[in-house]
Amino acid sequence: MSHVYKNLETAVIHAGISKDPFTKSVNVPIYQTSTFGQDNIRVQIEWEYARTGNPTRFALEELIKDLEQGYKGFAFASGMAAISAVLTLFKTGDKLVLSSNVYGGTYRLLDKVLSHVGIKYELVDTTDLEAIKKAITPEVKAIYIETPTNPLLDITDIKAVSALAKEHGLLTIVDNTFMTPYLQRPLTLGADIVLHSATKYLGGHSDLVAGLVVVNNADLAQKLAFIQNSVGAVLGPFDSFLLIRGIKTLAVRLDRHTDNALKIALDLTLNKAVTKVYYPGLKSHPGFEINQKQAKNGGAMISFLLDDKHDVRKFYASLKLITLAESLGGVESLVCHPASMTHAAIPEEIRNHIGIKENLIRFSVGIENYEDLKADLEQAIENSRI
Ligand SMILES: *Cc1c(COP(=O)(O)O)cnc(C)c1O
Repeated sequence: MSHVYKNLETAVIHAGISKDPFTKSVNVPIYQTSTFGQDNIRVQIEWEYARTGNPTRFALEELIKDLEQGYKGFAFASGMAAISAVLTLFKTGDKLVLSSNVYGGTYRLLDKVLSHVGIKYELVDTTDLEAIKKAITPEVKAIYIETPTNPLLDITDIKAVSALAKEHGLLTIVDNTFMTPYLQRPLTLGADIVLHSATKYLGGHSDLVAGLVVVNNADLAQKLAFIQNSVGAVLGPFDSFLLIRGIKTLAVRLDRHTDNALKIALDLTLNKAVTKVYYPGLKSHPGFEINQKQAKNGGAMISFLLDDKHDVRKFYASLKLITLAESLGGVESLVCHPASMTHAAIPEEIRNHIGIKENLIRFSVGIENYEDLKADLEQAIENSRI
């Protein structure tokens, strides 16, 4: 972090390239160009062609690098483009150990696309260090985790997993979408690569799709820069600008998101229609202590189970303020039904085995007034009674 500030609340506004180097405008402009003029052949130039590099995208890449305290940042056209770029680091015969309730799209990419080129995976309960140890064979090249996971909010010990990975010469990759660098910085805990669906909290306004990656060393940076330029799924200048704009309010948004979430999680534990609440900010959560150690708080994602006297379809239909939609992390509160939406790509048998049941509701708590959210949630639960 810079010598003029120490805190993330300041970094989200001033880190990276906080002013345009040419005019000192306080926002880096949208360099809406595909190419850059050159003075002559065979001279060193900074900007060449916008797939390789664009100043607006670069400002964003510098910003996320600083926030995650890494070596180099990369911006992609979506979270999945970021994830596939990272997984392109692996080759035929390599295998990844994967958190068992990893994001559905990540599972689908490995199961249905990368399986064609012979990249293998094994789903493991990464909250259990012994289970990871058992899964490590000579073909395993990386451990890929999400913490908290989606949608069950399981907590994996980033420091312990990174140490185990190092012992075996493996990379540790962390999908930090649910926490953002404001709440959790995996590279400072020993991970090698951190990635994001910036579509969620980093963008924060449900108005763009983007992905970010930060790596912790020059070797990975060089490989990923090569992949980013070769595959070409880069983020455009306008979306890069929007994302920088979104990140400026990350700290204030997340403070409100997480205040609301803790209050709502406590309310849900007291609601008789709710049989289980998954929220890592509750002391009753099995991962509470590890999460306290590695993150600022429990984040703003909650999942809960309705009892069998309530109907989930009626619940979703009864909501008036909170919107039923895919995605999360925007200022507005959203709920989803993981079994039929975000995790539909996972076969039912595996879904039930890992706990993504029919009556599971995922809630992305927004920054609206808490009383308004509480009222809408409570009336919808009341009206969902069979
Ligand atoms: C949404 C999401 C992704 C995929 O990102 P897109 O921007 O939708 O491509 C990956 N990981 C997690 C945890 C997500 O929530």
